[in-house]
Amino acid sequence: IDVASPILFHDPAELEERDAVLAQELGRPVRQYATLTQLALNGQSDSREWTYVRKDGSRLPVNLTITPMFDITGRVSGFLGIAKDIRDERAIRSSLADARDQAEAANRAKSQFLATMSHELRTPMTAILGMLQLLQYTRLDSTQRDYTVKSENAARALLLLLNDILDFSKLDADRMQLDVTPFAVEHLLRELGVILSATLGDKPVELVFELDPAVPMALIGDLQRLRQILINLAGNALKFTARGEVVVSLRLLATSQGASTIEFCVRDTGIGIAPDQLGNIFQSFNQAEASISRRFGGSGLGLSISQRLVALMGGELRVESQLGSGSRFAFSATLPHAQRSEVIQTLTVAAQAPAQTVRRALIIDDNQVACTVLLNMVTALGWQGEVAHSGAEGLAMLRNHPEGAMYFDLILVDWNMPEMDGWEVTRQIRDRHAEVPLLIMVTAYGRSALAERIDSDSNLINGFLVKPVTASMLADAVNNAGGGEALLQASPLRPGSDLLAGLRLLVVDDNPVNLQIARELLMHEGAHVSQANGGAIAETMVLAADPQYDAVLMDVQMPDVDGHEATRRLRTHPHLQQLPIIAMTANVMQGDREACLAAGMNEHVGKPIDIRTLVKVLMQHCRSATSVADRVTNEVAVDGVGAVANASASASGSATGIAMDLALARLGGNAALYIDLIAHFVRNADAELATLHTALQAGDANTALRNLHTLKGTAGTLGADALALCAAQTSVAWQQDGLPAPDALALAPLQRQVADAATALQIISAKMIAAAPQPATPASAAAMPTLAALLTRFEALLAASSMEALEQFAQMRAQFPAQLGGHATPIAAALEQMDFQAALSACCQMRIDMGGDT
Ligand code: ADP
Repeated sequence: IDVASPILFHDPAELEERDAVLAQELGRPVRQYATLTQLALNGQSDSREWTYVRKDGSRLPVNLTITPMFDITGRVSGFLGIAKDIRDERAIRSSLADARDQAEAANRAKSQFLATMSHELRTPMTAILGMLQLLQYTRLDSTQRDYTVKSENAARALLLLLNDILDFSKLDADRMQLDVTPFAVEHLLRELGVILSATLGDKPVELVFELDPAVPMALIGDLQRLRQILINLAGNALKFTARGEVVVSLRLLATSQGASTIEFCVRDTGIGIAPDQLGNIFQSFNQAEASISRRFGGSGLGLSISQRLVALMGGELRVESQLGSGSRFAFSATLPHAQRSEVIQTLTVAAQAPAQTVRRALIIDDNQVACTVLLNMVTALGWQGEVAHSGAEGLAMLRNHPEGAMYFDLILVDWNMPEMDGWEVTRQIRDRHAEVPLLIMVTAYGRSALAERIDSDSNLINGFLVKPVTASMLADAVNNAGGGEALLQASPLRPGSDLLAGLRLLVVDDNPVNLQIARELLMHEGAHVSQANGGAIAETMVLAADPQYDAVLMDVQMPDVDGHEATRRLRTHPHLQQLPIIAMTANVMQGDREACLAAGMNEHVGKPIDIRTLVKVLMQHCRSATSVADRVTNEVAVDGVGAVANASASASGSATGIAMDLALARLGGNAALYIDLIAHFVRNADAELATLHTALQAGDANTALRNLHTLKGTAGTLGADALALCAAQTSVAWQQDGLPAPDALALAPLQRQVADAATALQIISAKMIAAAPQPATPASAAAMPTLAALLTRFEALLAASSMEALEQFAQMRAQFPAQLGGHATPIAAALEQMDFQAALSACCQMRIDMGGDT
């Protein structure tokens, strides 16, 4: 270190003089020495950085320490100054700052990369998961359903991994927050059961839930994070256990002041963890031994994330394990109690009102733990239970009982037992006893295996339960146990819930696949959905909407006007302040949500869309479903164009071979539109067949195939599935074997199907019209929208290719027949062809022709 020679200053006046000289040199006032003098005169020391200016003008940074010196009387007699050359120190400091800046930039880039990757990966995942969900709404045979369900499971697993990486980065940056809501414990366990049983495969492992009956039914906590932790722990347990049991248990530890402390525990009979590894397993990217990752795979992130999440909930994740005999992971959390009414929608009917018909139940299961747990459940439901540990023992108990088999009201039989399996047991029970109680098969096999088995043996059992079983699943199974038809009702074919019945929604997304998924999923829940493929058109549509949409679901990243901007623009209109706008985006970092809220949106929902979450959010932000349904009924009655509300109940389509309910659901429940489409189909059916025939005669394969395609599409839309299938099969045959000879036989099957469909559809249409409420007195002219307003909205609908345009056009024609006159014809023709672009051009032409009128 280059230490400048000590300088001794004696005279304050001299120092001030130096300031003056320096000030002259620099051309500005300088009070450096004066400051020092002042400090020293006060008896203070000082140390700070200075720049020394050498005589040649070069500069030297120093750290100058000034210490006053006192004479024997205690007066300041001078100063000692030590100047330290700090050139090297400065260089090091600045390179450190550079390095820190670089590290911070790299960290920002990493976060940015994660956010971008999550968006990029989630976008295709959204499409895959959405399409797989939609596929399950279609008719599938059991093998196809199996493939679909498995693909969906795999896609979800991939999504979980993606979420793990995101979570990890959030926890790492201390940006994770808990999202606390009321939830039903039963609901948590059921979801867990569905996910875990998919992981279980066909290993001889019993997956068992033990729910302490003292645990309150409704609690307040972060349901999603609790589920995530339990899935991690139980998923590991299943992974590392080749045989035996995996038990997930919830136990009440204490209750005080409206909150309960609950111990969540997952124990297994798997490979266990060596004592020297127990300390490491909670570290991220760490696995007990290197060979584990080769044998079992895994990222080593699960436990580290779980432990940090548990800590966020105020607990600690602990582990006890013995190599070779199993592990036990446990944590406790104190969760406030929720009102039962707050979680009731998430529960099944049975969980709300347990089955009453059963008094005594017999459990036949070879696994001790499964027996005990089922017995506890039976007892918790208020029934008496008895246990048999094998099929033979169960049969003997029934045979020897003085009151016979009917002493029991219910028999629960495990499918997978050594020696005699569950099916054999049920067969023998039925063979030996004239009267047999309710028989329910309990199985860990997947639903597809069950579906196959039920095809052949459906008469043996009254119902089934897929493990892990919860008490309310058991009650449900008993309530549902009926004939063979009821057995597969619980198959993954998901009927729409109608929870969104009557809601009018606008979905905004630039990606057509996302649009289709969102629209169809929402329509399945009963909503009436319009769509816009960009922010600008969305704005036009919302401004033109009359009545206003109940909510807008808004994508964020769009090329024209993005979701934030579109929302900000909408919010500038006073009447749109309250319109619920919900962001639907693949960006799921905390900052993204805040950005959406800051832009004026009400809520943020991540993609891939989980329809249940979306329904929940919509129900929170929109008026209650019943009031909306009422409003729609009124609206339809008022608009007086023959529209029908809820006529579906009285005009059952199933007897006619038409999937009317599905078709109506696809049209957003719009009965008027359905009736219009039927009329259009019936009117044009013969002409379509004639065109097809002409194409055959001309050997024009392109036209013929295009025609078939249109026919298939129309039939599908109307729910005429047999006709759609016939058109599809014909199309495949003609493509493979070439066009047939244009004789009477070539089109015979199609003609028959067209005729059948037309007849059935006409019957449905007539019944629906008859069941429609009579139009109320027409609204007064003052309350009616002007033609200009209707036209603006009509154009917006056309631009968005919304089916609602048809309805809007019908309304305009009914209300303004004279004004529209002949102008309506080209528009109607274009609409008949579903050519929205042509209709829009015709509409523009009409405005020009009409001049200032509109
Ligand atoms: P991974 O994705 O590798 O499973 P985790 O963080 O979830 O990551 O687990 C870390 C390691 O802890 C695992 O690789 C395994 O060695 C060990 N481990 C976790 N749970 C169990 C268990 N139930 N039985 C045996 N070993 C376990």
